[in-house]
This record gives sequence, C-alpha cells and structure tokens, in this order.
Amino acid sequence: MATRPSFRDRAFVVRTYDFGEADRVVVLLTRNHGLVRSVAKGVRKAKSRFGSRVQMFVELDVQLYPARNQGRGLATITQADTVAYYGRGIIDDFDRYTAGCAILESAERLSYADGLLFDDISHSLRLLQDATNPTLVLDAFILQATAHAGWGLSLFNCAQCGRPGPHHAFHPQIGGAACFSCRPPGSREVEEATLHIMWLLSEGHYAAAEERLTETTAVQVHRLTTQHLQYHLESAVSSLKIMEQA
Ligand SMILES: [Zn+2]
Repeated sequence: MATRPSFRDRAFVVRTYDFGEADRVVVLLTRNHGLVRSVAKGVRKAKSRFGSRVQMFVELDVQLYPARNQGRGLATITQADTVAYYGRGIIDDFDRYTAGCAILESAERLSYADGLLFDDISHSLRLLQDATNPTLVLDAFILQATAHAGWGLSLFNCAQCGRPGPHHAFHPQIGGAACFSCRPPGSREVEEATLHIMWLLSEGHYAAAEERLTETTAVQVHRLTTQHLQYHLESAVSSLKIMEQA
C-alpha cells in the first residue's frame, strides 16, 4: 500500500455530524485544499485532545491524513490547534449567530479552492463579532465572495449595455443594474441608494455602506444579494447536471 503523506492546512468548520458513538464528521473549508470532508475520531469523549476546538467560528490549524479513496472517503483529523477564535460576540447573539452560520453555509456552497474565500470568511467573522447589522455583514460577504468567484455584479453601469447609472432596477440574470431600456421582465424596482450600498459593500467599504443604510435599503440590499447568490448557485448546480448527462 502506498504511503499517503499527511498535510497541514488552515481551516474553518462549516458543518458537523455525529458519527457512531464518539466520532464526528467535520466538513472543513481549508485555505489551500478547498472543501475537505473529514472525521475527528473520539472527539465526543471527554478526554479528547482537541474535540473542543473542532467547532464553528474557530480558525484552525489542522493536520489531516487524506482519504483512502480520494474524493469519496473521509480524511482523518489527527491534530487541530486554534489560530483564532471568533465565537465571542457571535455564539450568544441570535442574529449574529444566524448570519455567521449563513456565511459558513454560503462559503461551503461557493467553495472554490482559493485562499481568497478563506480570507473573506475570517474578515467577515471578525466584523460580525461587534456588528449592529449582522445581515449586512452577511450581504457584504456574499457580494465579495461571489465577486472573487468570478460573479461580480455591475452596480452602477447597466450590466447589459454599459450605460452609466445610477439606475433603478436590478436583475440577477443580467448581473446587476438595468437601465430603463434593458430591464428584463421581472426586474426589481429599487432605490438608487440600494445599488450604491451594494457597490460599497462589494468594494469593501463596509463602514460607508452601513452609514447610508435605512430600513428600506437594508431590506432591498439583503433581498437582491440573496437573489444574486441563489441565481448563481442554481445555475452552477444545473450546469453540473448537464455535465452528468453528457
Ligand atoms: Zn442598458
């Protein structure tokens, strides 16, 4: 049997399942190896060496032994050390906790093997710890992570014809703002400020975006951002289905 060398990586826990009597299946989003499905053996026993560290909102340095049948099996976590703990401020606040879970879940679905996504997560969790608008942190994460995945929105110029804005309609299918003549059926009429706030978020100007936020624009920003993510995840999944049929 060929020896499979173990490897180290930075990781966030995006999901866990109990497995057997004492083991836990842990889905990790790693910096350099993308999404890794792994098992942490014996972690649910009290004397476990690293069980308490393998949890959500902890940035880990993990040692992994790769799966025997690549792709389908589970890697084994042999060591886990805490690099940073982001749980403070998040785990005891319902809105921040919900937004934090949504950040990790979106990251799992996006999971391109790229350090950028990993950095987007740690940046967002740090921001979330003291956030007054947890949903805005989630929206900022989605806008930046989708842009890094190659799905950036055009939020000032019309996404279809390039006519300079500001515009007052948005459609996920054309990739952002729509001018009056390009509006596809079903475009959402939105406030000018909504697209501006989304632009600020996607450029990393979180504080400026938050400053301009109102009750109405907060609702619109979240709705459009969610539609944008869902549109791309659904088309990503359907393209996989087409590949399977070929
Ligand atoms: Zn246009």
